[in-house]
Amino acid sequence: MNPFLMAVVGAVVNLTRVCPKCRHRQVVSTKDKYKSVRCKKCGTDIPPKIRS
Ligand SMILES: [Zn+2]
Repeated sequence: MNPFLMAVVGAVVNLTRVCPKCRHRQVVSTKDKYKSVRCKKCGTDIPPKIRS
């Protein structure tokens, strides 16, 4: 796989959150990458993934 495609796939994976309550998947915007977002389906706060 070429490096550009790898970067795109990686970015999408980082911006996808799965709700811990209802398992709804949603993509968050880049500006909310390090913030908690609210599930569009059930309203539960989904914490950001912390990667070290
Ligand atoms: Zn939810």
